[in-house]
Amino acid sequence: MGSGRRRVNVDVLVVGAGLAGLHTATLLARAGHQVLLAERRSRLDGAIRTTGIFVRRTLDDFALPPGSLGPPIRRVVLYPPSRRRPVTLVSERDEYRVGDMGALYLDAARTAAAAGVRVLLGTRYEGRGRSGFLLAGPEGPIRVRARFVVGADGARSRVARDLALDRNRHLLTGAEEVFAVEASARPPTFHCVLDPALAPGYLAWVVDDGRHAHVGVAGYADRFPDGMRRALARFSAAAPGLDGVQRPAGAEVERRGGPIPVGGVLGRISCVDGLLVGDAAGAVSPLTAGGLDPCLRLSEHAAAVLDDALRAGRPDPLAHYDGAALRARFRGRLALRQGLARVRTPAAAAAGFAVLRTPPGRAAARRILFGDRSFPVSR
Ligand SMILES: Cc1cc2nc3c(=O)[nH]c(=O)nc-3n(C[C@H](O)[C@H](O)[C@H](O)COP(=O)(O)OP(=O)(O)OC[C@H]3O[C@@H](n4cnc5c(N)ncnc54)[C@H](O)[C@@H]3O)c2cc1C
Repeated sequence: MGSGRRRVNVDVLVVGAGLAGLHTATLLARAGHQVLLAERRSRLDGAIRTTGIFVRRTLDDFALPPGSLGPPIRRVVLYPPSRRRPVTLVSERDEYRVGDMGALYLDAARTAAAAGVRVLLGTRYEGRGRSGFLLAGPEGPIRVRARFVVGADGARSRVARDLALDRNRHLLTGAEEVFAVEASARPPTFHCVLDPALAPGYLAWVVDDGRHAHVGVAGYADRFPDGMRRALARFSAAAPGLDGVQRPAGAEVERRGGPIPVGGVLGRISCVDGLLVGDAAGAVSPLTAGGLDPCLRLSEHAAAVLDDALRAGRPDPLAHYDGAALRARFRGRLALRQGLARVRTPAAAAAGFAVLRTPPGRAAARRILFGDRSFPVSR
């Protein structure tokens, strides 16, 4: 590309090398298009923002490298604020596996490069100029002329702003500690605590698959009684399921965190110049806050629509990339999210648990936690 103020012409500029950007870029390159992928992080295995729990439907439908996945988890334990009389649910199938996200991102980037994607790390998307998109890379500015731009730049998408598309307004914030644990006889378990003092509007969790433990909280940022960091410290000090587990300190504990859009997929996620995928498009389950399955599925839809548009030489197919149509299928989950957001006191959480302990309550929890539904994308 030469040096100095560089200029690059491509079919598609993808901004952001999370799973959404990497997957979309790979599919487009495999379809024969010229793709440039710009990522501001200088390494893909650093500054990870997700726990990395993959659900069964994703594991069934997407070929993730098996060596980058932890042992299967079938057991979920749900706790009220008192932690007394938790509800244990065990599935007859393998429901979850925690990804080694650093390895998964690196693997996805190798796959993208092998498909022909030009991956630029340490390269920030800075905006849209009159004659192209502006990137700032380690060797200086780059001006990119692209037929389309894909905003895969996360919950607070700059691309969404520049394309005047919808933006996430309903966000949770999450943080977690991750550390290696000794193998033991403990069954791999996902512990979830419903306590608005620790995780207002969502859950506090311990995921222990026998190799790593993830201890985290998430909730509405302005509702943590004494801030999210303190909530995490309090929860971590008395996290369920880790009695007798050797806990490392200092640099052996990885800290992760970030915003989670839970307002449902956004309405306007495409225009004649490009589209949004993943968190940028609000493609996260409003109820469970899971975004890995939705980001992979929506990326396939996005790549297909862009492929149609590039082959036709017209942007018309992008009109089929319609968040409003997808949103309609989220009504139930959005209603449940509003219900969870309304749990503001330990008494309300305890009352919810009384329902959860009944057979219909347990059946409903099993449907949410072990169900076959996934992000509904169809063309
Ligand atoms: C604490 C936490 C735990 C979570 N746990 C789970 C879970 O266990 N299971 C699950 O399914 N979901 C989980 N989620 C949600 C899930 O992680 C996300 O929905 C998913 O990772 C979104 O992928 P993405 O590619 O859209 O965005 P991201 O992974 O956020 O990728 C966006 C990328 O864009 C880059 N970027 C941003 N701005 C620019 C710019 N200007 N220029 C260049 N690059 C830029 C960022 O550096 C980043 O690499 C969790 C979220 C959080 C915050």
